Amino acid sequence: LPEIFQAARPIIEKLEQHHYEAYFVGGCVRDWLLRRPMGDIDIATSASPENIQEIFEKVIPVGIEHGTVIVRWEKESYEVTTFRTDGKYSDKRHPDDVVFIDNIELDLERRDFTINALAMDKDGSIIDLFHGREDLQRKLIRTVGNGEQRFQEDSLRIARALRFCSQLGFDIHPETLDAMYKVKDDMEGLAVERLATEMEKLFAGSHLQTGIHYLKKTGVYMHLPVIKDYPHIIQRLPSSLRPLLTLGEVFALFHILEEEIPIETWVKAWKCSNQIKNQAKALVESYSYYRSHGADEWLAYRLSRFNQEAFTRLTVSLHPGDQLGMEDFTRINDRLPIQSTREMDIDGKEIAELFPERKKGPWMKETIQKVEKKIVMGELNNSKSDIKEWIKWNPPERD
Ligand code: ATP
Ligand code: MG
Repeated sequence: LPEIFQAARPIIEKLEQHHYEAYFVGGCVRDWLLRRPMGDIDIATSASPENIQEIFEKVIPVGIEHGTVIVRWEKESYEVTTFRTDGKYSDKRHPDDVVFIDNIELDLERRDFTINALAMDKDGSIIDLFHGREDLQRKLIRTVGNGEQRFQEDSLRIARALRFCSQLGFDIHPETLDAMYKVKDDMEGLAVERLATEMEKLFAGSHLQTGIHYLKKTGVYMHLPVIKDYPHIIQRLPSSLRPLLTLGEVFALFHILEEEIPIETWVKAWKCSNQIKNQAKALVESYSYYRSHGADEWLAYRLSRFNQEAFTRLTVSLHPGDQLGMEDFTRINDRLPIQSTREMDIDGKEIAELFPERKKGPWMKETIQKVEKKIVMGELNNSKSDIKEWIKWNPPERD
């Protein structure tokens, strides 16, 4: 077994010493069998959250009511969840009553898809009650049990099916697809935050075109905030679209594809953070600058390293012919006379002193920005005397 499982093995051993059962479960087993990079290691056990807290020193109770705690072990975190069934789903969102159980079989049965319903013991033996390995081999997303029923219990699973298609490049089993059509209207009742998490993963998937294919085919996009009011956006998605890593990048793309919808509308409807909003806005601004000026020093300077990568993904998606690479930005960045406003050889106070008769106001910031661009573009030396001279000859307009 790979090192990452070896590192978690003592947790399972300890639980077994206390006469509990414990297995690796879910995404980590799936990803290991696919030999793809793994996210988190999840462990399922017959021990109750209280039992777990007694056995391990560092336990963080993140979701006790669902039977989930985080066990800290050798500086790593592991989600350890008590075997459970999900009871009835009356509000179609949260399990009514989680029932803890003592066998793994029913725990696997509550899981969404066959490929996610695999468990593995500490020695690498797989428990596969629903032909999950076969579906991995056939590259199929298929619900555990009756699709219609499973999607009615929790319609987020419909969104999850699409994101797994996008991440894994899998197809959806015809019966599961049929059930998705039938139940998709239920998605209207989903908490937007849960939907947003899955959609972010969908747009970041390395088989994004498969994800989008099924997003269209199932008509699920008609149940997504904002998109349902402007469905033509989905048709406009370019076939050269690259995986976008954040919803900030996705909203920037949507806004470029349909300028009528402001970034704010996306961010609000999808209940995203200000950070996402700011990233989307910065990307849109940079994109429009790029369209008129190309990838010059000022563009490279204005994009943070983080956004340079995002910008490249976005721009190459929209203009696959453009030879725009990260190396270009890095090369330009390395040659810039300054890397940030702080490195300018002048500050606001000194600029104010050049015009003692004027009151402080927006003209100061505007002057700094003008000078900053001149310096970055190599049109003005970053030296106090040169800057002062330039400002004297190019005095700021009055506010
Ligand atoms: P990732 O690699 O993105 O974390 P994952 O398969 O581990 O993928 P998680 O959301 O971390 O997905 O969930 C862990 C496991 O819990 C899943 O593999 C699945 O077995 C189960 N699961 C998660 N969400 C649901 C759900 N809505 N309905 C049923 N089972 C679920
Ligand atoms: Mg996971």
